[in-house]
This record gives sequence, C-alpha cells and structure tokens, in this order.
Amino acid sequence: MPHQLGFVVNDLDRAGVERDHDALARHAEDPRALTILIAGDNAVLRTKPDGLSALLPTTAVNGAGPVRDRVFLGLLADVPVIGTQLEAAAAEHFRDESRFRVTDVRSIAVQGLVPAGELGILAQAKALLYWHGQHPFCAKCGAPTVVASAGLRRDCTACGGQHFPRTDPVTIMLISRGEKCILGRQTRFIPGMYSCLAGFVSPGETIEDAVRREVLEEAGIRVGRVRYEASQPWPFPASLMIGCRGEALDDEITLDRDELEDGRWFSRQEVRQMLDKTHPDGLKAPVEMAIANLLLRRFVEQPHLG
Ligand SMILES: [Zn+2]
Repeated sequence: MPHQLGFVVNDLDRAGVERDHDALARHAEDPRALTILIAGDNAVLRTKPDGLSALLPTTAVNGAGPVRDRVFLGLLADVPVIGTQLEAAAAEHFRDESRFRVTDVRSIAVQGLVPAGELGILAQAKALLYWHGQHPFCAKCGAPTVVASAGLRRDCTACGGQHFPRTDPVTIMLISRGEKCILGRQTRFIPGMYSCLAGFVSPGETIEDAVRREVLEEAGIRVGRVRYEASQPWPFPASLMIGCRGEALDDEITLDRDELEDGRWFSRQEVRQMLDKTHPDGLKAPVEMAIANLLLRRFVEQPHLG
C-alpha cells in the first residue's frame, strides 16, 4: 500500500482488552498520555522543530474551554492516546499561539502536514468523536447517553441500551471497458477534476452489488465482474471508502444529471495525462492521498482486470 494514500496507516494498538470501566480515567491521568485534539471540525496540531504533530500533551487543553467528549483511542508503544473534542470556538485559543496550528483534517492529509502514521489516528479520532457528538440521546427511549467502554460505546442512562459507533461503507469504483474508463464530476468538485463514481452501500447489499447498482444509476452502464482493490478510512464524517474495479458491459453512457454534472469515457492516455498534470484541456485527477487516485494509477498500469 503506497504511503501517500491518506489515513491508511495507523500506528495505534486499539487495545480492546484495556477497555474496562475505569480505563478512560486511568489513561487520561497518565502523565505520559497524548491527545488528538479536535475543535469543531478542525484538528489542533503542535509545531515541533522537525515539523508538525497531531499528538499533543493532554495539558494542551487547559484554558481552551469546555471538553465536549473524551475517548481512549489506544496505545502508541505503551503511551496512552486520548481523543478530545472541544467546541469549535476553542480553535481561537490555539490560533493565537505560534506553537499550535489549527487546520482541517482534509488539508492535513492533502498537504502531508503530519507523519503518515498519525493521519490514521486523526481519522480514527475525528470519526469517533463525530459519532459521540451526534449521539447524546438514546435512539430507543430518548434519555441521555454516556460514554462507555472508554469511548467505544455509549450507554443509555435510563433503559440501559448500548449504542456502538458506526462506519458508513462507500464503494468507489474504476469501471473500464477495454482501455477506456468512466469518470464523472460533481458540481462540488474543483474545476477540471474528474473522478471515479462512488456511492453508499445500502442495507443488505454486497459490495459488488453496490458497485453495479451505483454505476447503473449514475451512468446507465451495466457492470459484470467486480474486484476489490483497497480501502481507505474517510473521516468526512465517518466513511470507509471501498475501492473496486469493475468491467463495463455497455458502451453508451446515460448520465444521472442530478448526481453528476458530467461524465464520459476517458482513454488510458488521457488518464495518464491527468495524473501527470499534462492534460491538454487542464483536466485533473483527484489528489494523490485519495483512493480514486490509486485506482486511476492502477488502471494506467494495467487497464484490464486480469
Ligand atoms: Zn434508552
């Protein structure tokens, strides 16, 4: 797995056996403990002589306002790593100090601001803390919930219901026929960028069928064989991108204009130019840290599924 893919390397031992009732308090009080710090949607990084780090001493939260949620993420070597969620307004506290930098998590990955192994921890913290923020009340009875299992669960204070964090599976697929592939663009994309089609897996659906359904819905193309390639945590807010390749059975694209602004077949040569940033019309591939870029590179290297 190439390391330029963002969020795929995580140096933490998630330490499932350590998650007894007192684990969060015990680890948080460890003077060696480090924390990932999220303020609103942004991460707080600290400046070090050799660059930036997403791992801060737990004392960094002092004076930054109320802590909304705190979870135990795991052990780095044997040092506990905590995830701390602050209000969005807390970002201002850190912006005033040169030893900190407040940045959105996507930019941190695109610009490679922290070591690869810390990006995975950031994704873990952001997705998990987002889930906690969204589930202050029990989905069964409406009573307040509290953090349990050191952050891997929320328990209802009234009915005892247990709620587990969820990850949303999204298929992203490079669909090819001979030496051409389908790429599309959504209106929210930066100008000139085309990417692989993608869509959420529905309840009770296989990954393969999700790929076939999404491509039929968005491009009117039937897909035969589907092959899994790689996956990528995508903490915006809490997805797992499941990268696949598939063989198109049709040539004629019928676009769903509600989903896609444009979409068409691209030749292998054109995709190579987009990856190399030499396309004559200035068309672009997705950023290197995104799994779509990996799928495009694999198509250029080997256009057939094999
Ligand atoms: Zn309940």
